[in-house]
Amino acid sequence: MEGKKSIGIQSKKEEDLSKWYEEVCLKSELVEFAKVKGFMVIRPRGYSIWEKIKENFEKIINKPLGVKNAYFPILIPESFFKKESEHAEGFTPEVAWIDKELTKDSERLAIRPTSETIMYNSYSRWIRSYKDLPLKINQWCNIVRWETKATRLFLRTREFLWQEGHNVYETDEECEKETIEIIKRYKKISEDLLGIPVLVGKKSEKEKFAGAKHTYTIEAFMPDGKALQCGTSHNLGQGFAKVFGISFLGRDEKKHFPFQNSWGLSTRLIGGVVMTHSDNSGLVLPPKVAENQLVIIPLIFKGKEKEVLKKSEEVFKSLKKFNPIMDNSEDYSPGYKFSEYELKGIPLRIEIGPRDLEKGVVTLVRRDTKEKSESKIKDLQKEVPKILERIQKDLFLKAKKRMEDSIIKVKTKEEFEEGMKNKKLIKMDWCGKTVCEEKIKDETGATTRCVTFEKKKISGNCPFCSEKAIEEMYFSRSY
Ligand SMILES: [Zn+2]
Repeated sequence: MEGKKSIGIQSKKEEDLSKWYEEVCLKSELVEFAKVKGFMVIRPRGYSIWEKIKENFEKIINKPLGVKNAYFPILIPESFFKKESEHAEGFTPEVAWIDKELTKDSERLAIRPTSETIMYNSYSRWIRSYKDLPLKINQWCNIVRWETKATRLFLRTREFLWQEGHNVYETDEECEKETIEIIKRYKKISEDLLGIPVLVGKKSEKEKFAGAKHTYTIEAFMPDGKALQCGTSHNLGQGFAKVFGISFLGRDEKKHFPFQNSWGLSTRLIGGVVMTHSDNSGLVLPPKVAENQLVIIPLIFKGKEKEVLKKSEEVFKSLKKFNPIMDNSEDYSPGYKFSEYELKGIPLRIEIGPRDLEKGVVTLVRRDTKEKSESKIKDLQKEVPKILERIQKDLFLKAKKRMEDSIIKVKTKEEFEEGMKNKKLIKMDWCGKTVCEEKIKDETGATTRCVTFEKKKISGNCPFCSEKAIEEMYFSRSY
């Protein structure tokens, strides 16, 4: 059919990952470039993935941990922003300022790059006594960070959507415990919902959030050998509380500063899903985040149209809960339709033809493996969820194996450089020092990813500076 080629993916994942990735994002209609450089339009098919993440988030984080949603303004007065000096210094290069004189002091206003400062200004009025704690608030919003590097849809844009949670606790122990609990729940969302395996651990001093005591992270590893930081949870200690004047009357009737954390994950995850699972035919989505889990395509032959369409309609109705698409249009050939729904990442295709009907069966085709199977029509209600579950599980396991196969442990500088050349995710016992970390980045292009929670026996010296090794760190290039 004319024009059929142009809708397919022209680039190859294994040859030019970045071009292939952009093509999949655009042609599967998840997103498009906006007029203003560095911005994107998230289309309904892309936004529905974000909605699935939000739904899951409510179940895994809001409800069990007692977090409430709220909303704070997008503009932050410069004076708020500058209160915590490390925070201000860390974010200044990427803040977009508004110079309109909107306040009585003609103060400059920042478009939020994150909302700690504006939220904590409110918290200083809301928190009075230990009875007001813990305070747990999350907001879903957009943020702007004026990136100068090339735009990568979902992965690096100047504006993106995220959630940011900001909790306040009476004690350090409670705060630390929940900071870790949240990163573990992020891992669950990433792996169980999106099928993206992640390392979970602690960031280095250099890579931690500006103004935090320490930062925990989930890190995915993409097929091009780059890590993708997918979510972070920061223990802020009492630093922000002190500069924003958040204090409470304790059980001992004395004034105390509370302990705080903040935590976020963003639409970047959608990019992670696309890059992890998709192939040269287009988008592959884990069924749990697919808006339409299946497509039904009647194979219409002359003389048999009525029967096939009638049966297809019955099948469609019986599988309503999977939000199926029914494509019975006669404008395109079945082959054309197959490619189109493969491109769009519909997890399962059901083909219904006249010959199948004689036997009372249909053909099922998995999007991820393109594997075909037959099912009796009367068994579909049982068969379909089984196959969808298998797809969900297989996608995760395949990605997990790829990540595990990429990990190597190195003991020398040469092994490290060799590993970087081969796009590996490198682990190494090292000194933990920022100067050494900067040197490694300059010499090899690798950044520290995290130190995982597993107990490790550390031995020897750091291969880069010869000082005593204190922890096992993961290194790689990153997005
Ligand atoms: Zn070192």
